[in-house]
Amino acid sequence: MSFAPLTFDVEPARGCIHCGVCLESCPTYLLTGLETESPRGRIHLMQQVAAGRVAPTDTLRTHLDRCLACRACEAVCPSGVGYGALIENARAAFEEAHVVPRSRLAGLLRRMLLALVADPARLEGAAGILALYERTGLRHLLRATGLRSRMPKALRRMEALYPPLTRPRYRAPARPAHATARVALLLGCVMRVAYGDVHTAAARVLSRLGVEVVDVPDQICCGALHAHAGERHDATRLAKRNIEAFERAKVDAIVVDAAGCGAHLKGYGHLLAGDPQWAARAETFTSKVRDVTEYLASREGNERLGKLALRVTYQSPCHLAHAQRITQEPRALLRRVEGLELIEMAEAEVCCGSAGSYNLQQPELADELRDRKVDAILATGAEAVVSANPGCMLQVRSGLEERGRDIPVLHLVEVLDRAMS
Ligand code: SF4
Ligand code: SF4
Repeated sequence: MSFAPLTFDVEPARGCIHCGVCLESCPTYLLTGLETESPRGRIHLMQQVAAGRVAPTDTLRTHLDRCLACRACEAVCPSGVGYGALIENARAAFEEAHVVPRSRLAGLLRRMLLALVADPARLEGAAGILALYERTGLRHLLRATGLRSRMPKALRRMEALYPPLTRPRYRAPARPAHATARVALLLGCVMRVAYGDVHTAAARVLSRLGVEVVDVPDQICCGALHAHAGERHDATRLAKRNIEAFERAKVDAIVVDAAGCGAHLKGYGHLLAGDPQWAARAETFTSKVRDVTEYLASREGNERLGKLALRVTYQSPCHLAHAQRITQEPRALLRRVEGLELIEMAEAEVCCGSAGSYNLQQPELADELRDRKVDAILATGAEAVVSANPGCMLQVRSGLEERGRDIPVLHLVEVLDRAMS
């Protein structure tokens, strides 16, 4: 049987010796026990497709679509396989070649979501409409009367997962009297409209530690969702816009309080490596990117970071733990808060099922992972869950709500901000 070849770069998989060390770290393998839902299996499939030995069928793409791109496999691989780059290459090839067209509805929803996050004006408009749904009390009414449970399942899921839109917007703090560093904060897309107060908390914590946070007005969505979806053209366009905007700010560091965005910004160098006009600029940009926990932990001094009597557990975001290999810094910061007790949950480093828009596109697996995560959280008896990524916060919040548990889910900088207030 002949089929159209699908060419993409499988170089990141070159070191794979098919040892299987990665299997037990893979959330989809943990759930299914299937080789085709494991990193080793997916790597094999991608290599076979790229070599023209296996047809790029719908079934095959489903195995790739079910990958969370959490990169847990990459973090444990003894051969240094670059799984994150590999799956992005494969997804981009599928999208660009149109060899397996998606259903009309799935394609439309996907395009709408990606177009929305990339355009700040449109995103503001959509956020304003959705905020009315909350402000008028309609959301509360639907829940209180049980009408929400009668919604079609897909709509109910979207309703449960859409971000809070009535929280205060970002407000830059005053410049510290004796600033010792100058940084810019990535405001992002969904974070900007939904978690502006988390940005404010991050900026306030930085400012209290003598760091000036400057505004970068022309910054835009980082493009992570586009890259993960295989929309490389848009991801590249957004990356260039951000590089230009942050260059103008002339800062020591670009601080990010969303782990998924931070991981993607640190990959701009890789994304633009083949573009002679942008490669060096992208590398310079990348060298300045720091997750907020990484940046705070790297500041001199080991003094207490305020006081807060709270028993918390920490949900480690995949794009912080696996993609950026930052696991100890967030915990070390929490331990510097007087009175705060940190209780580790089981499988803290296993994905919660959020993974960008994965929880909308692969609802069954996402729900299983979310429920597993909620079980682990509840077993700790913590009074609050702390994370460092908005996607994880939404996913965990929806899982706790589903169980009727009113446990707050906080960003780590919110905890520090409260402790230092
Ligand atoms: S990706 Fe790494 S850990 Fe997994 S099978 Fe290949 S070499 Fe082994
Ligand atoms: S990225 Fe995550 S879900 Fe995908 S193969 Fe690796 S461990 Fe599994």
